[in-house]
Amino acid sequence: MNGRIAITLFAYVALFGGYSQAAPPNIVLILADDVGWGDAGCYGATKVKTPNIDRLAREGQRFENGHASAAVCTPTRYSLITGQYSWRQTGAGLNKGVSNGEAPLLIPTTMITAPRLLRQAGYRTALIGKWHLGFGLTKPDYNQELRPGPLEIGFDEYFGIPATNDRIPTVFVHDHRVVGLDPADPIYITYDAAEANAQGMSPWAAGRNRIGWAKGGKAAWWKDTEIADTLTRESVQFIERSKEKPFFLLYAPHNVHAPAIPGTRFADSSGISSRADMLRELDSCIGELLQTLDRLGLAKDTLILYSSDNGAYVNDEKGHKPTGPYRGKKSQLWEGGHRVPFIVRWPARIQPGVAKGLVSTLDMPATICAAAGIKVPKDALPDSFNLLPAMLGEKDAPKRDHLIVMSGNGDLAIRSGDLKYIPDLALANGWYGGTKKTTNAAARPGLYDLAKDPGEKQNLLPQQSADAQRLADWLAKDQAAAVTRPIQ
Ligand code: CA
Repeated sequence: MNGRIAITLFAYVALFGGYSQAAPPNIVLILADDVGWGDAGCYGATKVKTPNIDRLAREGQRFENGHASAAVCTPTRYSLITGQYSWRQTGAGLNKGVSNGEAPLLIPTTMITAPRLLRQAGYRTALIGKWHLGFGLTKPDYNQELRPGPLEIGFDEYFGIPATNDRIPTVFVHDHRVVGLDPADPIYITYDAAEANAQGMSPWAAGRNRIGWAKGGKAAWWKDTEIADTLTRESVQFIERSKEKPFFLLYAPHNVHAPAIPGTRFADSSGISSRADMLRELDSCIGELLQTLDRLGLAKDTLILYSSDNGAYVNDEKGHKPTGPYRGKKSQLWEGGHRVPFIVRWPARIQPGVAKGLVSTLDMPATICAAAGIKVPKDALPDSFNLLPAMLGEKDAPKRDHLIVMSGNGDLAIRSGDLKYIPDLALANGWYGGTKKTTNAAARPGLYDLAKDPGEKQNLLPQQSADAQRLADWLAKDQAAAVTRPIQ
């Protein structure tokens, strides 16, 4: 988009968008991986030091009741970009599980996504880090252009990890191409054991066994110890070269997803675990981004949002409590699976403080579009609540009164106020449950009051059956609806 069109668009938005502001802010959305609610000093951690995340909280608003929309990676990331509950779609990574390294693109290229709206409004948009939402229309060929991908759903630039750091392929992708691939040693991958056997493929890649199988492409292998520094360097460079116009950076570090391999200068730095070392590395990387914004004079007019794609996969590491006081872990419907850190900082507009309201990563798309002065088309971002008025402290600001969360197996629960309703407790343990779906008639539901019982120990059924029924009805209504956000 050339400058004149961008200026015209801004004029249009200023006139008709319903917001008046001098200049749209830069937006940096930091989505960490498998970081739990309790994984920062500002959320009560004492054994792991996170001075930069704590600084964000001190200078911004820290939400105590923030949730990923799902308890595993791919569906939360889908919703973060599309503003739609992932379970409205069908397939691995959408209404169940996560996607793998040979998945096709999971976001339709025709969809009105948050990055697309921002780009149309004149923003320079980039995703740097973990993607995990597939490439191409069928199984991607990593020797060819990986298209469609992030650039076809709204990002101007992409640099990062195709799936996860424990999955094949172990290479970086820049825009449409694998970085550093030697054409004389093409890369082939599969997630099918029989094909792997027939083709002589191995799970061994970049120094250790991964999920999936591959052969070739060795020149392009990443080093696990250098992933965080690489993604941070790319992010700093993006900010530096984009500072003349508003930019949107979705920075998606692999910290602290398994395998927990921190950069060498963070190895054994926490005295707790390699996962906690990776947490310290994450904090340091966030510090580098904050310093970059300070150095360029951009901090005041940059909206930063920080959260995680799902809860921690462990509850206790030598006394450090990654899930805080909450029950359960990654992939589960218990709070530990989806309650995550949630901080926003925008020095020019948002007063620092602690907020108690229910919020979700699902709400970030509508919120950042509102911050940019964009009026979202009525059929776009269908489940994403605009939290900006509440963050700005406006009177009678609309609030999210309920939220649906999804387990790693695709089962749903609903939160409203202090209550949570789980339709079938046999399914609450997600991947760790090993329990098959029961029939509706046999399901044993659960109702918990998170204010009185943060550890979800006391099932309030059957005593509060009317509350349970109200939440069950709400869940069914939202499942049947196409849009759940207020139309503004
Ligand atoms: Ca994750």
